[in-house]
Parts: sequence; C-alpha cells; structure tokens
Amino acid sequence: MQKIETQKHGVRPRVGISACLLGDRVRYDGGHKRDPVVAGTLGALVEWVPVCPEVEIGLGVPRRPIRLSGSPRVPRLVVAETGEDLTGRMRRFAEDKAADLLRLGLDGYVFKSRSPSCGLIGVPVQGRSGSGRRLGRGLYASTLLDRLPTLPAEEEGRLHDPAMRKRFLERVFAAARGRRRLRRSPRIRSARARRRPRPT
Ligand code: SF4
Repeated sequence: MQKIETQKHGVRPRVGISACLLGDRVRYDGGHKRDPVVAGTLGALVEWVPVCPEVEIGLGVPRRPIRLSGSPRVPRLVVAETGEDLTGRMRRFAEDKAADLLRLGLDGYVFKSRSPSCGLIGVPVQGRSGSGRRLGRGLYASTLLDRLPTLPAEEEGRLHDPAMRKRFLERVFAAARGRRRLRRSPRIRSARARRRPRPT
C-alpha cells in the first residue's frame, strides 16, 4: 500500500534511525545490529537519516559500555566501569540534533531497543545503590522526543509486527505529505523568497 502511495504522490519520507540498525559498525564493541525488516522493508520506502549519538558525542569505537543510573524518570547516563557522567554532553547533543532535524524536515524515527542512549521503552536503569533494575528511556531518545513530541517514533523490534509497522508507516507518510504541502504553500514560498538575499 505504501509503495502505491509513494508512486502516486511522489512522497519519500525522511526518517531518523539508530545507525547500528542499518549495519553501521558503531556499537561499543565495534559491531552492528542490522535489522533486516527495518533496513530492508522500510528502507525501500523511506530516506534514512542515520545517527549514532554515542559516536557523535565523541566516545569512539570501541568504547566502554555505558548505562542509565538513578531515577527512571530522570536517569543519569554514566560509563559503567568508571562512573563518568555523560548526562550533560548527551542532553546538549540531543537538543542540538533536534534543532538540526527540525530544519532538515523529519517525518519519523526508528530507535534501537534497550540502548541507554537510543532505547524508547523498558531500558534498564540501575538504582543508586547499584542494585535493582527499573525501566526507563534512553537519554538521547527522551531528550529528542521532548523537543519533537509529535514525531512518529518506534523501536525496531515492534516494527516486526505487521500491524504496528503499518500504523507507523501511515503516521510517517501522513507527516511527509503534511511537510510537502507546507513547503508548497504559496504563503511559505513567498516568505522564503522574501528572506532570500537580493543580488547586488
Ligand atoms: S543504539 Fe544508538 S548509541 Fe548505541 S550503537 Fe546504536 S546508534 Fe549508537
């Protein structure tokens, strides 16, 4: 169905994605988590915008594993071995990235499950005492979605379910069509033309 929509309306949504899901070797151990359903089935319909927040804040590959710690509602992001606190760095990066993606025009996001940076739901959070596991959201994903609250977002595992995948794609295509309509609106075009510098 989405293929027909794509051909009929010429719409190709732009969707952010955790880069490891496309096969990029950006994980802490130098590996990837390529997901064939996401990379293959969805990849045929959308334009990906891959992001690895841990690499982009300068942690490198390979790197020490990190985790969420403290309160599940406002967890800290720390290096598991040393306790180094990465919370501020990751928050600032996610806020800047949200502004960049808004300018670029984004129609959805696919996040890697259970990652302390990218996970959307049920990410383990270690309690202050070091024991017990509560469940939270990855720090990059939560900060980004605070800034872009209407952006359709899902984790890769849930997209293996055909009904969930269909619902996600419908929301993504609706967002893409809305963005295109806005771009073509005469008012927006003339506002942009007014902003363009005149030749001297
Ligand atoms: S889950 Fe996110 S932070 Fe971790 S490797 Fe994948 S893209 Fe990078």
